[in-house]
Amino acid sequence: PIACKSTACQSIVWSIAGSDSGGGAGIQADLATMQDLGCHPCSVITTITAQSSVEVSLVEGVSNAMLLAQLNTLLTDLPPKVIKIGLLASQEQLERVANWLTVQLAEHQRQTQIRVAVILDPVMLASCGDALNAQKALNFDCFKGLLTLLTPNATELALLVEQPLPNASACLHAAKQLATRLDCAVLAKGGDQGGTWDPLWAHDVFVCGAVPEVSLDHQNACFLLTNERVNTHNNHGTGCTLSSAIAAIMASGFVLHDAIVVAKAYVSAGLKASYQPGSGAGVLTRLG
Ligand code: PLP
Repeated sequence: PIACKSTACQSIVWSIAGSDSGGGAGIQADLATMQDLGCHPCSVITTITAQSSVEVSLVEGVSNAMLLAQLNTLLTDLPPKVIKIGLLASQEQLERVANWLTVQLAEHQRQTQIRVAVILDPVMLASCGDALNAQKALNFDCFKGLLTLLTPNATELALLVEQPLPNASACLHAAKQLATRLDCAVLAKGGDQGGTWDPLWAHDVFVCGAVPEVSLDHQNACFLLTNERVNTHNNHGTGCTLSSAIAAIMASGFVLHDAIVVAKAYVSAGLKASYQPGSGAGVLTRLG
């Protein structure tokens, strides 16, 4: 087992994300993953989506009062060891979450002297291609200095840097740009490129950024993470699962770069055992 599954040491991990009524992605995928990996998951719901495996029919962000009430109520009794952020409904909501991290979470960290890792998956599109938030390209610059890791897929990365990314080396260049812009590590995922970058292998690019565990000499180091490509269309919720797995594994005491490698292996195993509950893209099985 990757994490400690005894009830005595279940670390608290938060998911700040949207609900997927189809159960494959979003909060539903996050909580299942965090629990599977031995953590106690708490949820802050940002958005409610009405979606199946083939369409997103309605998306509604929660009110600002409800967003802040969830964050503040949890912080007093169930403070997080690690936070994963997924779907944010709008630019306004995104800025409110960034502001909460800057003020409330920073004060909590100052008082407890415990650093809370924050992993942000900049979700913009559902796997069926439908938009999930008000603007297709949100601007995440207000998260500068607040994140440990950003995990865009290649489509999201291209929107964030406003450039096409035809291959893995263009992706590396864009990931470095973003790591500098937001002052955090970046894991740019190539899995959504199907076989267009490489028919046999799925490549992800990791740029260290300013990770505290990494010595200053290595802060701009980059690694190519390569896995055998799992040929399946059952990839709904893969990004949510990966970022939640990284969060849960870090909460169990792994440093960021090790957590990424273990989480990738977890997602690959889940994809190999995936299933299709509806007529659209299916979901991975959790095998923690
Ligand atoms: N969050 C929500 C609420 C979603 O509905 C989706 C996809 O439909 C996502 C996140 C992103 O999912 P994925 O992990 O497939 O990128």
